Amino acid sequence: MINQAFTVADVHAVEILDSRARPTLAVTVTLADGAQARSGVPSGASTGSGEAVELRDGDPARYGGKGVLTAVAHVNEDIAQALRGRTFADLEAVDTLLIDLDGTADKSRLGANAIVGVSMATARAQAIRAGRPLWQALAPEGVHPRLPVPHFNVVNGGAHAPNCLDFQEFMIAPIGAPTMAEAVRAGAEVYDRLRRLVADRGFDTGLGDEGGFAPDIAAPEAVLALLVEAIESAGYRAGTAGVAIALDPAASEFSRSGTYQVASKVLSGSQMVDWYEQMLDRFPIWSIEDGLAEDDHDGWRELTDRLGKRVQLVGDDNFVTNPVIIREAVAGNVANAALIKVNQVGTVTETLEAMRVCRQAGYAAMVSHRSGETEDSFIADLAIAGGFGQIKTGAPARGERVAKYNRLLEVADAYPNLPYGLEPS
Ligand code: PGA
Ligand code: ZN
Repeated sequence: MINQAFTVADVHAVEILDSRARPTLAVTVTLADGAQARSGVPSGASTGSGEAVELRDGDPARYGGKGVLTAVAHVNEDIAQALRGRTFADLEAVDTLLIDLDGTADKSRLGANAIVGVSMATARAQAIRAGRPLWQALAPEGVHPRLPVPHFNVVNGGAHAPNCLDFQEFMIAPIGAPTMAEAVRAGAEVYDRLRRLVADRGFDTGLGDEGGFAPDIAAPEAVLALLVEAIESAGYRAGTAGVAIALDPAASEFSRSGTYQVASKVLSGSQMVDWYEQMLDRFPIWSIEDGLAEDDHDGWRELTDRLGKRVQLVGDDNFVTNPVIIREAVAGNVANAALIKVNQVGTVTETLEAMRVCRQAGYAAMVSHRSGETEDSFIADLAIAGGFGQIKTGAPARGERVAKYNRLLEVADAYPNLPYGLEPS
């Protein structure tokens, strides 16, 4: 962390596009000594109900109501007025001011998209001013930064693709790679093999929102078998010694009044856990995110009791990067890891706090992109800084995803002593 006071000279936002042709914000923060930085605000599709509120204009005449001119105005008026000319001790002081200025519990007045854009740009400006890479500036005291295992989302379903696949994300994770560069290479080579396999089986090789293929395959097991084949035919070992598999079914999206309607079945929470158990027996799955719906509290406890020793269980929709919620989950023995998304909670400081809570509890944390992204590679640095050794930021395809992997490659090259891989437990 940087403990150097700084003065904000200007804050300016503009409406730009995200990777799904929807409006979002770019925010530029200029400090008094001239340091200047820009952020691009991410946006999700399968959002948890407890997420900080993303402010949309709701004017049907523009972008089908999805415009963000109100949030842009909040940055350029209220927030700029409150920050301009003021000196802050650290990033936390800025974030606290933003939270107070908003005045709501869910950041719905100014908009979490407005607030997080300012917070991210301020963090970056402060790093530039200190002459430090962003990951160094973000790294908490006592945490050892490391290059994260990339989780490449190579098959997309659910809310991210128009196919019949209910599970949202099938990821490949080169846990056994010796370096960041070899991990990225493995991801790209397996992705390339997978394209050919998908085409050979007669499926479309069109892409979903996060750059993964979106074939019309309904059964998760069929996708998993295809992934193992792609991993092995690319010359890697399937499993944690080589390239392992991670799932994000995003189960809230297919839960209907206490049941799960998935792959032409109707299952209870317990039956979902049975099903995951069978998948773990058959396939080299090392991590399951949002295996059950955010409001299925009994199911999550059963999932954790039965599979928590065998596999990483990541809370996303249910934890929403909220330190208070994660603390409760830890106390209730729910999951053993959290997904970390800056816009879910709305400031960088609260995001770092969520990671601190994970660390204290012995939970893992996976830093994550959103389905709507920009070319901003902020989360690559955040993942390095957090020291957990995990990131998911889509397929090794589409510029907004590749920007993050390329940033990791460049940091790895510039800092050859940074370790790669999962934090040893
Ligand atoms: P989202 O999906 O960005 O559309 O919410 C990502 C995820 O569920 O992890
Ligand atoms: Zn998720």
